[in-house]
Amino acid sequence: MTLTDALIDEIRAEFPEFRVVPKKNDRLSWLIDRLLKVATLGHQDQYLTHYYTVIFHTLYTPEGWETTGDIERVITLRHERVHLRQLRRYTAPGMVFLYLLPFAPLGLAYGRARLEWEAYTETVRATAELRGLAAARSEHLRRHILKQFTSGAYGWMWPFEGQLNRWYDEALGQIEREIAGTSPRAARMEQKG
Ligand SMILES: [Zn+2]
Repeated sequence: MTLTDALIDEIRAEFPEFRVVPKKNDRLSWLIDRLLKVATLGHQDQYLTHYYTVIFHTLYTPEGWETTGDIERVITLRHERVHLRQLRRYTAPGMVFLYLLPFAPLGLAYGRARLEWEAYTETVRATAELRGLAAARSEHLRRHILKQFTSGAYGWMWPFEGQLNRWYDEALGQIEREIAGTSPRAARMEQKG
């Protein structure tokens, strides 16, 4: 059994309705793709080919999901699991509200940026745990994640690089403490294990 299959089982135990659907032959995904291209003036044209999307309890996957490496898929699933937990925490109308308000759907979308920030913190954490701290600290990962906030990929949701870098440093510091075993989260995990 791959790490991916094991994690999907774990997510299903927490969210029985969870399922994985390829975007390629999915009508809803094609419709969203068209709308995003219009709304972002063509800046988000990789929705079907490069982006993972959770809508309610379904994870829609881009091309190549089946052939993506095991660890990369696990890192992706851990990010998306954060969105499933947000959905439970904030409820469906709450998620819509946070995603679209209080600012405009495009640009300065603070609610959406905070939701994505929580999920990307998990991306960094999963990278640190599965690929090592050096990978989590890499400039490559930082640039990749910051770009999701500052570019048209998510509608320019939070273009303040200085603040994003401070969030990133804080998240990295927290994760480093967890791994060193000195943070409350790590202590909780030890108690459980
Ligand atoms: Zn996300």
